[in-house]
Amino acid sequence: MASQSKQLQEILDSQPSYRRKQVEHAWFDITINGYDEISTLPKEFREKLMVIPWNSLEVHTALQSKVDNTRKYLFKLIDGNMIETVVMGRKNLKDDAVEGAPDRYTICVSSQAGCPMKCVFCATGKAGFKRHLSAEEIIDQYRFAQRLLAKEGARVANIVMMGQGEPLLNYEQVKRALSVILANTDLGETKITVSTAGVPAAMNKFLTDEDFPPVRWALSLHSAIEETRQQIMPSHKKGFLEWLVKWAEDYHRRFPSRTHFIGFEYIMLSGINDDEKHLQALITLCKKIPYFRINLIPYNRITDEARPHETINTDGFQLFDRTPPELITHWHEELMKAGFTTTVRYSQGQDIAAACGQLRNKAE
Ligand code: SAH
Repeated sequence: MASQSKQLQEILDSQPSYRRKQVEHAWFDITINGYDEISTLPKEFREKLMVIPWNSLEVHTALQSKVDNTRKYLFKLIDGNMIETVVMGRKNLKDDAVEGAPDRYTICVSSQAGCPMKCVFCATGKAGFKRHLSAEEIIDQYRFAQRLLAKEGARVANIVMMGQGEPLLNYEQVKRALSVILANTDLGETKITVSTAGVPAAMNKFLTDEDFPPVRWALSLHSAIEETRQQIMPSHKKGFLEWLVKWAEDYHRRFPSRTHFIGFEYIMLSGINDDEKHLQALITLCKKIPYFRINLIPYNRITDEARPHETINTDGFQLFDRTPPELITHWHEELMKAGFTTTVRYSQGQDIAAACGQLRNKAE
């Protein structure tokens, strides 16, 4: 864990517990720009806090997409490790456009520096795992975006834990970060999505953990056939799909509301997981699950868009071909016919490598 997080812990441990709440509250007050400015705290205490940086992230590179309203920030952490956060804008949608309402953004937040999961289609895992982020470093990604957007009259409306890392391997820090964000902002639990490649021990723990906020879950499924899933996601354990069906039942017993659907993410990789056999396997699996939605994701090539026929890029990464749009449409239609709510997610920010699976700390 980051040392400044430990330092903060030590300082707060010697204080009554409401002090921690005051400090956390101040983090989200955009009129406050340092611990010395928290006027609700006694002066001696503020001085102690001054050894801790007000925000643990330093912008190393900022990139703005030329084709859509996406920005990517490459941050340097205090110990020199790097992470990425993506800020994705959209204008107010017609239905909920309120006169003068600020633009609403979704931020894609990292939970680890690097990632140990090594999914073969994802760039983040290729660079390896560096370390878990502290709750503060996760919160600071929100605070950075909050302050940035406030200057533009815009705001963070959704958080997706789909940046670098596997959030469930950093369970306690993710839990604390989300709890603090929920306690100090106007975001509701269903505006936050935690995405996982599937970590059964942590998913089980969540079901009986009263302190983990009831946010939404997305599961990176990518195949309903074990052999294929194992091949593209080395973290896959045999029997996972069967186990998932049981977990989903327990999950819905605990959260019966339909707003707590499970989001299944399915990257379409040409010739790997997009044939009829895989489609039918997905339908069969989904029929066993109470509430869910399916998100079909066109694969983003992790680099070298300019070299369309090569299967290995200049960094030695395996590249896949994208499933043709007609086939994605076929899947979409068949899944809808089966009665499943299904969307196709076209990633934003591809020109700045800010799209899903492209986050790997390169400051091109
Ligand atoms: N480790 C978590 C959080 C990262 S989420 C998880 O796996 O869910 C990143 C999302 O982007 C996941 O749904 C992932 O499967 C998807 N993704 C990764 N590489 C991609 C690529 N090359 N093209 C499209 N989506 C990708």
